[in-house]
Amino acid sequence: MSLNLDSRQRAMLQEMGVQVWSPVPQPASRLQPALTAAAESVAPALLERAAVAPRAASTPDGAALELQPRGAGVESMDWPGLQQAVAGCRACALCQGRRHTVFGIGGLPAPGADQPPAADWLIVGEAPGEQEDLRGEPFVGPAGQLLDNMLRAMGLDRRGASATGDARAAQGCFIANVLKCHPPSNRKPEGEEVAQCRPYLQRQIELLQPKIILAMGRFAAQALLQDEVAEVHSLPLGKLRGQVHRYHGIPVVVTYHPAYLLRALGDKAKAWADLCLAMQVRNGPQGL
Ligand code: SF4
Repeated sequence: MSLNLDSRQRAMLQEMGVQVWSPVPQPASRLQPALTAAAESVAPALLERAAVAPRAASTPDGAALELQPRGAGVESMDWPGLQQAVAGCRACALCQGRRHTVFGIGGLPAPGADQPPAADWLIVGEAPGEQEDLRGEPFVGPAGQLLDNMLRAMGLDRRGASATGDARAAQGCFIANVLKCHPPSNRKPEGEEVAQCRPYLQRQIELLQPKIILAMGRFAAQALLQDEVAEVHSLPLGKLRGQVHRYHGIPVVVTYHPAYLLRALGDKAKAWADLCLAMQVRNGPQGL
């Protein structure tokens, strides 16, 4: 696989910490100091917001809301209806600690009021973290910054526009998680929570009809491929990478979660290889 990288992509890869050939040796990672500085700059504001932000899913006297069965008909909801259903969902205990539901973000402007945004790419992560819970947006904070750099290296942008002028920007990408509410202490999602929440992601995929799905992390891969790969729950992520899976006919490429890549800098090159595979599937070899 040849990589004819332009200067922008080389710069983005360097921000990811992926080394590309250069006659001048580069430092191991320029990303970490920037991420550390960014985290320090936002931490006071986040702490302040955490102190004053109301718990969304509690009664006026502070008691936890009672759980309610998920409403019927998710499989036939339109995009606004699905957004409303998620925003008011109390189908699992995660509703009791959340500040915001995190439906997802991205894509190009919807062609109609009831239509989903246009998005050839769907990025799927695990669940909202603390900062995502505060903002109501997926992949914010240091992991989100790394994801944004990964997307820019592919000519994509979560805001649906690109400053690059790259034709691939017109493809659009939507970013979502398997779970729409924050698990406390960033613990792993539980089976019942996934069972309750998965229909929302399934309906998002049905409505978005992406051309390709990028599953970030083992948990997202398991949620998407549980009907396609028999032993998916016992396979390490490394065994799921490097091949093209299918979710209801849609190509799925598995890669590392950005939060993991922040801890395992040596695997960033593998992540870039995964992105190259995904671009090759979506665009053909000429897209690399
Ligand atoms: S995690 Fe999903 S199923 Fe649970 S309350 Fe939130 S939206 Fe509903």
